This record gives sequence, C-alpha cells and structure tokens, in this order.
Amino acid sequence: MIQVALPWLVGVYLLVFLAAIFFAWIAYEIVRKFREGRSLRHRLRCTICGMEYEDRTPALLPRCPRCGGLNERFKLRAY
Ligand SMILES: [Zn+2]
Repeated sequence: MIQVALPWLVGVYLLVFLAAIFFAWIAYEIVRKFREGRSLRHRLRCTICGMEYEDRTPALLPRCPRCGGLNERFKLRAY
C-alpha cells in the first residue's frame, strides 16, 4: 500500500481541476473567436447609407447594393 499524504492528494486534485477549467476556457475562447471571425469576414457596412450587407467577392472595394457606393473592407465589431 502506497502511503500518500492527504494534503498532497488534495493539492494535486485541486491543481488538475483548475487546469481542466483553464483549458476548457481557453478552448472556448478560441472557438468563439474563430466563429466570430468567420461570420464577420464578409460583413460590410456602407459608409454612405449605413446599410449592412454581405459581400463574398474578392473585390477590394465592394459596391453597396442599395446606394452603389464603394466601401473599404474593415472589420465590423460585434457589439
Ligand atoms: Zn450604401
């Protein structure tokens, strides 16, 4: 029978538990950022009329479907 001190056992248990929570949190954050980036990559907001639209063409300056204005690609922030 291996003799293990109880405080040591509790300490190891606590460490493993905290590490599991930490890694779960990191994984959740990575998945969230990845999903956010993918959903907002093609979202644009027109600087002239303010309309939000999707553009999946490789054009550098996509044209607004409502007013026809050219818009720069920039990251939309999710509020
Ligand atoms: Zn527009």
